[in-house]
Amino acid sequence: MYSVKEIFYTLQGEGTHAGRPAVFLRFAGCNLWSGREQDRSAAVCRFCDTDFVGVNGQNGGKFATAQELAQRVASFWPLSETPEKSAKIGRPYVVCTGGEPALQLDDALIAALHETGFEVAIETNGTVELAEGIDWVCVSPKGASELVVREGDELKLVYPQVEIQASPAALSSLAFEHYYLQPLDDASQSENTRLCVDYCLQNPQWKISLQTHKILDID
Ligand code: SF4
Repeated sequence: MYSVKEIFYTLQGEGTHAGRPAVFLRFAGCNLWSGREQDRSAAVCRFCDTDFVGVNGQNGGKFATAQELAQRVASFWPLSETPEKSAKIGRPYVVCTGGEPALQLDDALIAALHETGFEVAIETNGTVELAEGIDWVCVSPKGASELVVREGDELKLVYPQVEIQASPAALSSLAFEHYYLQPLDDASQSENTRLCVDYCLQNPQWKISLQTHKILDID
């Protein structure tokens, strides 16, 4: 059984694939915060901007099988009339997010998504071992949590964070292809953006990631 908060078709807003059309599959639940405001100050991750509680979002629900969920995801990808047109549209792309998607994204669901033609990406906090076969791994370390996923395609660090474990210096030797700083979206966002820019300029291993879906005012 898979618990899904919401499913929607949009543009990926962040990181290397910013601007790419994708189906977002948001799983319910996270291991670093309950999602309840009264628990936020004591949580491992305290700056979450996402509602991942329950299955009551758009197109959310409980899915009994991997096939059922994969078919629902596939129903959001635009249809093309001919194979030639399909080839031009490119491979369907699903971003598994949350909450913490690694709590639910298992071998059966990855296989079912692949069978429907999807390239499978995950946006994870990196504290849960991943199933095999995910095509794009984006890890976003949070606070003092222990990172178990220490390699992947993209490391995306919300910046600044007070915990030393979540500093770019502590993470720069991990095995990722891309390293991004993303300004923390709080009352000090302008200052946070300036800090990101300064850090990237001084440490060119790092690039900036902006939340372009917020700039565009889309989901
Ligand atoms: S790890 Fe991600 S989903 Fe979980 S509380 Fe933090 S930002 Fe939210």
